[in-house]
Amino acid sequence: MKNENLLIIFSILVLAVLLMNIFSSPVESPKETLIYSQFAYQVRQGQVSTANIIGETSIEGTFLDGRQFQTNIPPNNPNLVEMLRQNDVQISYSPESGTPWYVTLLVHWGPFIFIFVIWILLMKRMQGPAGRLFSLGKSKAQRVDPTKKRITFQDIAGVQECKDELVEIIEYLKDPSRFRKLGGRIPKGVLMSGSPGTGKTLLAKAVAGEAEVPFFSISGSDFVEMFVGVGASRVRDLFEEGRKNAPCILFIDEIDAVGRSRGAGLGSGNDEREQTLNQLLVEMDGFDATEGIIVIAATNRPDVLDPALLRPGRFDRQVAVPLPDVRGREEILKIHAQKVVLNDGINLEKIAKGTPGFSGADLKNLVNEAALGAARKNKTALTLEDFEYARDKILMGPERHSMVMSEKEKRSTAYHEAGHALVAALTPKSDPVHKVTIVPRGRALGVTSFLPDNDNRAYDTEYLAGRVTIAMGGRAAEEIIFDEVTTGASNDIQQATSTARDMICRYGMSEIVGPISLDNNDQHYVFGRDFGKEREYSDDTASVIDHELRKMVIFHDNKAKQLLRDHIDILHRVADMLMEQETIDGSQILALLGQEQNPSPTS
Ligand code: ATP
Repeated sequence: MKNENLLIIFSILVLAVLLMNIFSSPVESPKETLIYSQFAYQVRQGQVSTANIIGETSIEGTFLDGRQFQTNIPPNNPNLVEMLRQNDVQISYSPESGTPWYVTLLVHWGPFIFIFVIWILLMKRMQGPAGRLFSLGKSKAQRVDPTKKRITFQDIAGVQECKDELVEIIEYLKDPSRFRKLGGRIPKGVLMSGSPGTGKTLLAKAVAGEAEVPFFSISGSDFVEMFVGVGASRVRDLFEEGRKNAPCILFIDEIDAVGRSRGAGLGSGNDEREQTLNQLLVEMDGFDATEGIIVIAATNRPDVLDPALLRPGRFDRQVAVPLPDVRGREEILKIHAQKVVLNDGINLEKIAKGTPGFSGADLKNLVNEAALGAARKNKTALTLEDFEYARDKILMGPERHSMVMSEKEKRSTAYHEAGHALVAALTPKSDPVHKVTIVPRGRALGVTSFLPDNDNRAYDTEYLAGRVTIAMGGRAAEEIIFDEVTTGASNDIQQATSTARDMICRYGMSEIVGPISLDNNDQHYVFGRDFGKEREYSDDTASVIDHELRKMVIFHDNKAKQLLRDHIDILHRVADMLMEQETIDGSQILALLGQEQNPSPTS
């Protein structure tokens, strides 16, 4: 690129010099061009004053009146000089024509050369990352060589079942002939699904690392360009590349960007996506797994994928990558803690227990934030305190100490958060309150954070109903104490309404509506295939849902108010503690209530 810049600068200089030459050359009076006999006549008439003989071919000179002329002279003309002398012409002699060949070349061809050089450079640039106009149809897959930065199963923890599923593929890539001999058919494609940051990409890389084969990685969105046909061409190119480098792994991240159900969109942009998907289906059919190519795709949304992708012969093996459980989290922490200095005796198990719901990527981030926090405090090793600081930062967002709150604002925030926390502490089955703070964090003025004490992913009616009550708790407290509500409660109302709607429409938890799925909130289908069928139920049902929804939210709002009125003293004390300490622990609230934990459901 440096050379290219130099060339451009050079070309511009050449052009500048040429232009200067053209514009700055002295304005000479135009020379008359004479044929030789005219010249000879003028000499004989005594009209010529000077003559400069250039080489043996031409003469330039002036007339007596100052006009200039030039003429070509015939070869072998011995009488020329004699004639000039006899007519008193001043004679001079120049060996050759004044302009050197290269100047002539530059003057005549310079602009063309300049344009040519610029054109070549532009073409080169367009093929580079900046333009890519000429490489649109090429796949943008990144290649990772097995020898460089090799990632193995050692680098991944907490996903043993997924590793077990993938071992067979590694064995096959290592020695395809063993499988071919027995006539077994190895899956061509593996679809990995799971929440963001659970290690899907890492697993795919580890398969390549373990088998020591090249790894080509591309994101589904890289196929999509604004030009029709480009995506399909990129898919072809990706598989072409794969064939050249077999055995290898082709990894398509975020496959839902191209693999979404066909017909689920509107407009030409969508046609392009469908064309790309069709090409992907064709390629998946076209290659034989015996060629040694394994396609691994990852998605957070397996539910929106086109069923054709998932049928046997394409992505016929599906691996669900779950969020890690407490043991998995400890193992993942061990892997990432290798890169930092830990204080002796630090208990990673305790940190793992305090981070339910954290993904592998969250845990990596946790270790990093803890290390950054410790470095800020000039510590030599990381302590439990640093991990707790990092966890709060991740859970509640970074603190915004610079934000100044008025006393009134602070007070209403304190009561708002105290309301959430107290209702939570009084609600059976609620996740335990972790911390309550009125230090603004992220976009919120205050935060009440919860830490579930198990990894249970199935929730019952009581738990969800409790969440609606807790969400309304903040607004309820403000209303009881100040007899007015602030805009700070809008998010709570939204959360309460959405949980209540899920209970009614998705989970069949409303007796009146019954166990029917009325949930078609999937925004991905708002246009296209499902265009115009946003609602699959009658107006009557819609009004029943609205009625139930309102009833449920108002019921929980009243319930929250009742709980707070019954414990108004404690509400005041929690709010006072918040005004004083700004951040308090869930256990402090339980202590005020004289409890060690949330009440059991039966109490
Ligand atoms: P996304 O769906 O957002 O693409 P992903 O599931 O592909 O996410 P990765 O990119 O593989 O997630 O993970 C991000 C980082 O988190 C990895 O580089 C790795 O360091 C860490 N990580 C995630 N899961 C694990 C795990 N199980 N063990 C160790 N590290 C992990």
